[in-house]
Amino acid sequence: MIKTNAYAALSATSALQPFELERRSPRSDDVLIEIAYCGICHSDIHTARGEWGPTLYPFVPGHEIVGRVLAVGKKVKRFKMGDLVGVGCFVDSCGKCPSCKSHEEQFCLDHTVFTYNSVELDGKTPTYGGYSTHITVRDKYVLKIKKGLPLERIAPLLCAGITTYSPLKRYGTKKGKKVGVIGLGGLGHMAVKIARAMGAEVTVFSTSAEKEPDAKKLGAKKFVLTTNPENFSSHRGKLDLIIDTVSANHDLSPYLGTLKIAGLHVLVGVPPKPSEVEAMDLIYGRKHLAGSLIGGIKETQEMLDFCARKKVFADIELISATGINEAYERTIKGQVKYRFVIDAKTFLP
Ligand code: NAP
Ligand code: ZN
Ligand code: ZN
Repeated sequence: MIKTNAYAALSATSALQPFELERRSPRSDDVLIEIAYCGICHSDIHTARGEWGPTLYPFVPGHEIVGRVLAVGKKVKRFKMGDLVGVGCFVDSCGKCPSCKSHEEQFCLDHTVFTYNSVELDGKTPTYGGYSTHITVRDKYVLKIKKGLPLERIAPLLCAGITTYSPLKRYGTKKGKKVGVIGLGGLGHMAVKIARAMGAEVTVFSTSAEKEPDAKKLGAKKFVLTTNPENFSSHRGKLDLIIDTVSANHDLSPYLGTLKIAGLHVLVGVPPKPSEVEAMDLIYGRKHLAGSLIGGIKETQEMLDFCARKKVFADIELISATGINEAYERTIKGQVKYRFVIDAKTFLP
């Protein structure tokens, strides 16, 4: 077993604090990773605070993990010591069901083992996330990262990157398409960068007036301050696709109005309470409302390679472990610019 220093929440109301755990020694098909950086996703916060139903405590968050291979099991051929690697939102799945066979392990019909707040395929061993110094993962669920790139800015691609890349790619984002991004946070700023890199024109919808210059710098052509309903009027019927990253409950109606006929509004943000939809907002203009969950391993690798080629990386604030609780508060207030990333060395006492 490998002694690992981490940060954990012990209950829905407690701050994150130092915690020790043990990672398994590599099995024949495992990779032992020394974590270098881990991003802070809003899902970490929702889960730490029990906003999505029961959380298993102690809870170690973190599913935007990058690091170096320390050791591999004897059957592992894809990785060797020293390789740069990434781990995203899940670390195992059945590998046999139709979802796994079609490279959508996040929808495993049997059991997707999520990186945290989940149990291993044995049905009992809890999983602990990347706010820690080491992690052991089955090789098939480990991603390759190219050398010579800013590693700390790649960590957020493992969740924020793939969650936005997947629907952008699936629904045909390219030159000539108009994409709206709602919420300029971790996912939102990646959606802007990736949609631009795919060639689309981007409109950002935000509640924060002061983010307008950043939105433009990130590649958006237009910025709509959503706190004033009148600001939507000149944008009616304009967009092909919307990526909705908002983490809090919000009225979908004004956004559906900005879609072209048969336009598509994709929910990736997960507000704590159900949303209401006015049937007429979909019926009039034959609009579509959809959801999307991260992406499979194959697509995540494709996204990492795309971002490396296009030099698309997250804009981050690098923090140490002691700054996690303050980073949570700032993220909830929408004050993140645009992803907090933790330096994993600072989990050591
Ligand atoms: P984040 O960095 O906190 O960004 C969310 C943004 O939403 C904020 O920056 C803010 O942008 C906007 N917002 C926040 N509160 C709002 C409110 N009350 N009304 C309107 N807008 C508000 O969060 P994130 O890490 O990007 O995650 C976003 C959501 O996606 C979370 O719910 C997370 O759990 C979920 N998620 C889903 C998947 C998936 O696979 N589907 C994967 C990862 C995360 P402005 O200041 O611009 O308004
Ligand atoms: Zn996430
Ligand atoms: Zn499966």
